[in-house]
Amino acid sequence: MCGIVGISHHKEAGKMAFLGLYALQHRGEEAAGIVTYDGKDTHVIKRTGLAVDNFDEDNIGKLKGHVAIAHTRYSTTGGSNIKNTQPILVTHRKKPIALAHNGNLTNTEGLYAKLEDEGSIFQTSMDSEIIVHLLAKSSNGDLKTWFTKVLAQLKGAFSTVFLYEDHIIGARDPQGFRPLCLGKLGDGYILASESCAFDLMKAEFVREVQPGEVVIIKGNKIESVFLPGAPKESKAYCIFENVYFARPDSHIFGDNVYQVRKRLGAQLAKEHPAQADFVMGIPDSGNYAALGYAQELDIPFEIGMIRNHYIGRTFIQPTQFLRDFRVRVKLNPIREMIKGKRVIVVEDSIVRGTTSRNRIQEIREAGAKEIHMRISCPPIISPCFYGIDFPSTKELIAHNKTVQEIAGFIKVDSLGYLSLEGMLSVMKEKGSFCTACFTGKYPVPIPKNTDKLQLECRGA
Ligand code: AMP
Repeated sequence: MCGIVGISHHKEAGKMAFLGLYALQHRGEEAAGIVTYDGKDTHVIKRTGLAVDNFDEDNIGKLKGHVAIAHTRYSTTGGSNIKNTQPILVTHRKKPIALAHNGNLTNTEGLYAKLEDEGSIFQTSMDSEIIVHLLAKSSNGDLKTWFTKVLAQLKGAFSTVFLYEDHIIGARDPQGFRPLCLGKLGDGYILASESCAFDLMKAEFVREVQPGEVVIIKGNKIESVFLPGAPKESKAYCIFENVYFARPDSHIFGDNVYQVRKRLGAQLAKEHPAQADFVMGIPDSGNYAALGYAQELDIPFEIGMIRNHYIGRTFIQPTQFLRDFRVRVKLNPIREMIKGKRVIVVEDSIVRGTTSRNRIQEIREAGAKEIHMRISCPPIISPCFYGIDFPSTKELIAHNKTVQEIAGFIKVDSLGYLSLEGMLSVMKEKGSFCTACFTGKYPVPIPKNTDKLQLECRGA
């Protein structure tokens, strides 16, 4: 998963791009980068780690230019290292092309092999690099024809922003798996994965880039074109963006994420009511559905655990050791609230089950009399090939365990998951979501080789 930003026309485009990354930090904490163009030269800073740690007044000041794109990375194809940072910046026919990509392509292997056969040499192990190679190979015609011809060859999930000289180009795959929003900033336009980025820049939300749409922006002029088949192809918005990934203050997929999560919680309460002294969420991601759940049943909502805000998303840590450490440090139960109480604990989802098990143990140790766990999405049984890091079935607890068995593993008195029908019933665009992680039904054929490190150089 990743966050992307594009700024078309601002005297401090680099600074605005940084604000965008700051707001989108939750979409990836492994690396952050900004590329700007000042009409003559490009300027680039890309580093591993958080945007907030990598940029300061000093180096942002060096990012001169009126156009910029930026990227914050959580790796889903290619290892986590400096080589695999974005935006990717290349020079083609003496002109700069930069790319920031969110999502996973599903025809990586075929395209990669073809390009290699034709003589391409790759510098990264990210599927995203394929896109710049395809651009380099077909730079005939006007911008619109050139980019649409290349993007039409891609399959799977891509929300992308490009910088090509003074142009910013935004594109979304025909299914619209990942979000991409369009805003207005002063005289120019701005693109960002989520609308929460606009608020920090005091930009105005205009609309979402449509599935299959390519927007070509120069200064204050914007042109729109659709990829072949779009917008007729069926949409497949990633429902997990709504469940967990996106920020609750964002407006994506035609809805506000906070309100969606509350509706999921209310529906969960209808499907799996329980009696308890209070409802609590696992902070922060479980809080919104917990609130909806509590309001629906008229049970008090309490904050039973406090989050240490100096620590990021637990699962966005490549090693199990760091994950475990952060799990312990991140949340602390309030014993005085929990002791002797019957509690309903709401979590947005269970993926591996390990975090939930630890949290429940902590709540139990704090003295809870009964723990009823409620999950605001259905059991996750299948991996994601479109950009969420559910890498393989063996890591998904629900893949081969029943709800009853999961309840036993997590050690709760009862466990209830929201149904698929219930989940879709509270969505505004009910028929427009990808639910493959709950059903195993993939809207775009999935690749044979599914290794995240499939493009790594393995030596002789
Ligand atoms: P667990 O009980 O270990 O499955 O952790 C569940 C929590 O981690 C939930 O809040 C999930 O939404 C969150 N989470 C989100 N994405 C992932 C992921 N890719 N892998 C693991 N956990 C995730």
